[in-house]
Amino acid sequence: MFSFSKHLNMMCGIFIYDVWLTLYKTNVKDDEERNPLSAQTYGSKLDEAKGFSEVWELVKDTVRDTLGERRVGMMLFLDDLPLRVGAYHPLGTNNIVLNRAIIEIVEGVTKSKRVVNAFVYTLLLHEYLHALGHIPESEVYSLVYQVSKESFGEHSTVSQIARRGLRSILENIPLDHISPPSKRAVEIVRDFDKTSRAYIS
Ligand SMILES: [Zn+2]
Repeated sequence: MFSFSKHLNMMCGIFIYDVWLTLYKTNVKDDEERNPLSAQTYGSKLDEAKGFSEVWELVKDTVRDTLGERRVGMMLFLDDLPLRVGAYHPLGTNNIVLNRAIIEIVEGVTKSKRVVNAFVYTLLLHEYLHALGHIPESEVYSLVYQVSKESFGEHSTVSQIARRGLRSILENIPLDHISPPSKRAVEIVRDFDKTSRAYIS
């Protein structure tokens, strides 16, 4: 049975979402703004990135250079979520929420800034693509692989994560047997787009 009010609400939701997206998203119109670097250069930039904001700059650069899409003004929050969740983007907001608990576990177990950076890159890239209007999970997964492969090469850690899942670098971490830390307050990463917040010192 057709329900008008339900239908109307749905349409309004889509309309508002479209307007919201055009306010923030820009397509790079031609190649002049794209500045693709070699896989080696992207790789060493990611390996050496200090904190969320430097990884974030690489997420934005690689998406611009491969897909020609860009969005500004995103904000990053850290929260302790169930360990099966890496991150999420609430639709209709500028926010990305990263799972602080799982990042700390990966840091603690791998003790490798390179692996943690690849892990954070993949999580942020996935949510950024949602924020650019790519909603279906299957579309986002294949775009994550495309951006990773074209930017970092097929054999890079980020491409491996994109192809085989985040668990592929966490094979030795028994996530199911680790109890997450007790829930702390949500934290905003200040100046996410500008300065860094180092997570490995
Ligand atoms: Zn998703």
